[in-house]
Amino acid sequence: MRTLQQRLAEGVVLGAEGYVFELERRGYVKAGPYVPEVVLDAPDALRQLHREFLRAGSDVMVALTYYAHRDKLRDVGRDGQLEDLNRAAVRIARESAAEGDALVAGNICNTWSYDPENPVRSGAAVRAQYEEQLGWAVDEGIDFVIAETNDYVGEALIGLEVCQALGLPAMVTFASVQPEQTYDGYDYVEACKRLADAGAAIVGLNCSRGPETMLPLLERIRGAVDCAVAAQPVPYRTDTHTPAFESLENPDGSRAFPIALEPFACTRFEMADFARRAADIGVNYIGVCCGGAPHHVRAMAEALGRTPVAGRYSPAMELHPVLGTGEEVMGNCAAG
Ligand SMILES: [Zn+2]
Repeated sequence: MRTLQQRLAEGVVLGAEGYVFELERRGYVKAGPYVPEVVLDAPDALRQLHREFLRAGSDVMVALTYYAHRDKLRDVGRDGQLEDLNRAAVRIARESAAEGDALVAGNICNTWSYDPENPVRSGAAVRAQYEEQLGWAVDEGIDFVIAETNDYVGEALIGLEVCQALGLPAMVTFASVQPEQTYDGYDYVEACKRLADAGAAIVGLNCSRGPETMLPLLERIRGAVDCAVAAQPVPYRTDTHTPAFESLENPDGSRAFPIALEPFACTRFEMADFARRAADIGVNYIGVCCGGAPHHVRAMAEALGRTPVAGRYSPAMELHPVLGTGEEVMGNCAAG
């Protein structure tokens, strides 16, 4: 099995996330709390989505432990199952990865416990949550850690330190919700540089921004750090007026995030284009976040020159009964 570092040295590593959004759409996760109860309640549904991302070409199976920390499980009255859920999520990711040639990533994220006004006391609570989550993950077997949707440099550094203490390579990414800076006041480029200087294997951005508003930041991050850079945007059409998808609005002024985002969805072609452009500027780990689905990942894999298993069923529009002839479509969707 090639390690993360070997794969990064050879070329782009393709990731795939968005498990929580996709499983919510499929009826296995509750929007609002977004706690991954599916791990315990419907493990086969999770296994199936891992398998679909694997067939689409993802090099990494990410354990679904996003928001599976003590505070969040307490919110839904399941903190007694914290360890079971964390262990099962890693086990399912590992078993899925073994169906192909994928790495297994443990996953931690912003905890909502960190308080920049009180970094020592709140930081200790954050550290304890990361230590217990990653302790179980290491026990079950992971290759590296993705610490993601970080809002604070202070909290991100704690995540990195816990990974380092466990001897695990860490990919640390920020959610660029605000126009320029993290919530503790670092320019996103400077934030990534801090994490790179502290020894992260990969730094970058995930979630919040779509391709168009993430790329300019990525270019600046690439120029500022020597380590590998990661980019996992949301597949939504954010723009300079609304750089983060949390603020996208419907025509009537209502908020589209998080469960009415369909009108802003990127096509597979737009995500394939993103993968090419990110690779061109030297991004090393390319994936998708919330909203991403297997068809996006497959198109991105193919744009990067891969031949994923699911490529067997990639479009062959020349064989469509009407579109293939070049004649005008007469209203037969041929979708069966
Ligand atoms: Zn996301």
